[in-house]
Amino acid sequence: MENDTFSSLEPSERGNFIYDIISADLAAHRVEGVVTRFPPEPNGYLHIGHSKSICLNFGIAQEFGGRCHLRFDDTNPVKEEQEYIDSIKADVRWLGFDWGEHLYYASDYFEQLYEWAVHLISEGKAYVDDLSAEEIREYRGTLTEQGRPSPWRCRSIEENLDLFQRMRAGEFPNGARVLRAKIDMASGNINFRDPVMYRILHAEHPRTGDAWCIYPSYDFAHGQSDAIEGITHSICTLEFQDHRPLYDWFIANLPVPSHPHQYEFARLNLTYTVLSKRVLLRLVKDGLVRGWDDPRMPTLAGLRRRGFPAEALRTFAGMVGVARADSVVEIEMLEHAVRDVLNRAALRRFAVLNPLKVVIENYPEDTVEQMDVSNNPEDESAGTRQVPFTRELWIEREDFLEDPPKKFFRLAPGQEVRLRSAYFITCNEVIKDASGAVVELRCTYDPQTRGGSAPDGRRPKGTLHWLSAAHAVPAEVRLYDHLFVCPHPGSDGRDFLEDVNADSETVLHGCYVEPALGDATVGETVQFERLGYFCADVDSAPGTPVFNRTLTLKDTWAKLKAQGRHDAG
Ligand code: ATP
Ligand code: MG
Repeated sequence: MENDTFSSLEPSERGNFIYDIISADLAAHRVEGVVTRFPPEPNGYLHIGHSKSICLNFGIAQEFGGRCHLRFDDTNPVKEEQEYIDSIKADVRWLGFDWGEHLYYASDYFEQLYEWAVHLISEGKAYVDDLSAEEIREYRGTLTEQGRPSPWRCRSIEENLDLFQRMRAGEFPNGARVLRAKIDMASGNINFRDPVMYRILHAEHPRTGDAWCIYPSYDFAHGQSDAIEGITHSICTLEFQDHRPLYDWFIANLPVPSHPHQYEFARLNLTYTVLSKRVLLRLVKDGLVRGWDDPRMPTLAGLRRRGFPAEALRTFAGMVGVARADSVVEIEMLEHAVRDVLNRAALRRFAVLNPLKVVIENYPEDTVEQMDVSNNPEDESAGTRQVPFTRELWIEREDFLEDPPKKFFRLAPGQEVRLRSAYFITCNEVIKDASGAVVELRCTYDPQTRGGSAPDGRRPKGTLHWLSAAHAVPAEVRLYDHLFVCPHPGSDGRDFLEDVNADSETVLHGCYVEPALGDATVGETVQFERLGYFCADVDSAPGTPVFNRTLTLKDTWAKLKAQGRHDAG
């Protein structure tokens, strides 16, 4: 990752409470090096919340000269798929991080975990329970009511060993029995009331196939996996806080090779966005989006297809920081980070989304002039390109009004405008069809204004983008808006899907782009001058490009911040 990862925009993640804990651990020699991990469950695509966790875990490892593992928490074969494993690896790499040789799977530890389960049974600290899932819930009690011991809690060690071995051997159907830790049914922490360690699941696993028909719970797998890998700081989100005593209990009661510790931070929430794989999966399955990588999805694959640069996501992770309490970040802050990168990096191009024909009557019929146009006024080194200029042009329909209000500085009858990097033109005549719709403008140009300035110093108030009709390449352009209509989708108990924005995608056909974009590279994001940032989509074919609008040019977050309404910076 480059040095400017946490760009000039905002302070980096350094100095957050997790960095402080680690610095103190190193100073006191409680650990000799730092090893973190990012532990996705391969049951969906990664989303922007995960990128927060990825930047934190890999960022810490970089900062302290340690290492970060990528570990798949693949303990639930029913929901996990190879497609998700592959996408997760691709997304972490795209975000700019590298796990080197440290790629692991919880499923690699199934044999070791089984041995440790046997160890706990042998010590009288785990037992096989025949209660159903429903009964276990009932016996477990509530926050205000103590749990009751299962009638099977007092089985002998021999009987437990025998039953657990037979569970593994496949003698019992799904749900018939579970293995539970024997801790404390009266504990104030419900996670301590004999948590389930293993369940029976006759299901094919993407990696272990049918080798197993019992699978460890998250609680029994996670900390032990950390211990096997020598993780020093196991960083997760707040919902695991109440599991921490259990994490510590297993580590304390097993002959594990190292003693990791768990730390919790607040998960990222974003307005107008849902960051739950369960809901995202529903959007995909119900066909409400084009797939996991739909440009409206908050998945990394979706944001990439939309045109959000990885650098902006890393910067954003630094901007939101690491908090101990949950909060909701405004999506405008993310958009601000994206615009900041694109404003610096995206090449400027001409595109006309809603074309109106302009004929320059005093321009020769067969002449083609190549106009030099700057690729990026923010970056001289990006150079210039040539854009062909001819007698017949496309301009944006919204850039003309027959009967303009006072401050309309674009094209109107008798009004002169500048065509960017070309000539000044004046509109003389408006051609309409039978229904009265404007179909063509007849204009004249001033040959002395080539390049966009006049010898007499006159300066039109408006500057328009344009395309030569003979050279323009037809394109499809997809405009995107928030996927949800309200800032907090699904609040007040509504179903998330009720808040889906039915107008979040608008597909425009019959748009035109300049010749240079005819074979744009998929994934390349450019600025269509005056219109916004656009990214070439995978649906593009040679000669018929498709562009996704990444964002418009307007930065509402910067504006709100300038007004003092945000304190994030
Ligand atoms: P979801 O709720 O979307 O299903 P998850 O927590 O079940 O997410 P995992 O694959 O288990 O998804 O997550 C991998 C890691 O990413 C975990 O350490 C988790 O804490 C972290 N993570 C998940 N969502 C967020 C988020 N919104 N903000 C920060 N970290 C997150
Ligand atoms: Mg999870």
